[in-house]
Amino acid sequence: MNNFLEHKAAVQRFFVVLAIIVLASVSVLNLPHRDEAGHSFEANQEKPELPAVSEPPQTVVAGLAPLRKHVVQSGETLSGIAEQYQLDIATLLAANDLSDDTLQIGQELTILPGKGVLHTVRSGDTLWEIARAYQADIPAIVVANGKKDDNAVLAEGEKLFIPGGRLPLRQASPVSRGTTSRFLWPTRGEITSPFGYRWGRLHSGIDIANDVGTPVRGAMAGKVTFSGWCDGYGKTVILEHGRGYSTLYGHLSQSVVQPGQYVEAGEVIAYMGNTGWSTGPHLHFEVRLNDQPLNPLQVLP
Ligand SMILES: [Zn+2]
Repeated sequence: MNNFLEHKAAVQRFFVVLAIIVLASVSVLNLPHRDEAGHSFEANQEKPELPAVSEPPQTVVAGLAPLRKHVVQSGETLSGIAEQYQLDIATLLAANDLSDDTLQIGQELTILPGKGVLHTVRSGDTLWEIARAYQADIPAIVVANGKKDDNAVLAEGEKLFIPGGRLPLRQASPVSRGTTSRFLWPTRGEITSPFGYRWGRLHSGIDIANDVGTPVRGAMAGKVTFSGWCDGYGKTVILEHGRGYSTLYGHLSQSVVQPGQYVEAGEVIAYMGNTGWSTGPHLHFEVRLNDQPLNPLQVLP
């Protein structure tokens, strides 16, 4: 009996020791190992298989945010759909020309890729005017719609997503209003020399005289294509406005813009001066269409 009990205890000890050895070796195998450089790595680097995520197929061209469609199901509400796509209700209403939140089952809604508005291009629209009309950022519109640059030609009827765009207060007023009324006076002063031939040479702009340091403003929203010294013109800024229009500001005392910068209509871009071939402080202001100078008085209000 005693022998039997001792034998049983010995067997139990054997199994306890065996279990400790097995556990110890298993835990050693599973410890992260370190290589010579001290980087740790797992002995067994199998990763659990993730369940396949089914995403709706989207044709995403680089930079092009896809517009999606949502078909209204029974029981859905506008606020629910807005929440589902992380849009605000105003964005959803505007993108679908809805005036209230009444939905029909089966109705197809356009889902914008983010906050903003959808603009349907009208004849003659440019990205510049569209950006201005919706108080949006031109580079963001260029990227969101996969355009090459801000001068990209737009097709009538084309839908553009305007990221961050806000609806114009009076939606009735179209974006395009003819070319003439879009220019603003670039500065205040007296017109001392009109556009036209003078001493046998074309004076390709108008001269507006005032004190050195009088603010000079962009005559239209645009992109700065030049800011520097120009023979004859002295310190000069050139803005490009799309659709072939550009404006030039000469004899400046100081420019406060850099090439590539976007400016608003009426934004201060420079200060009047007397640099270059100039006989007194004035702004030499040119409007060009496809590089041909126009009489600025024909386009200024
Ligand atoms: Zn001049």
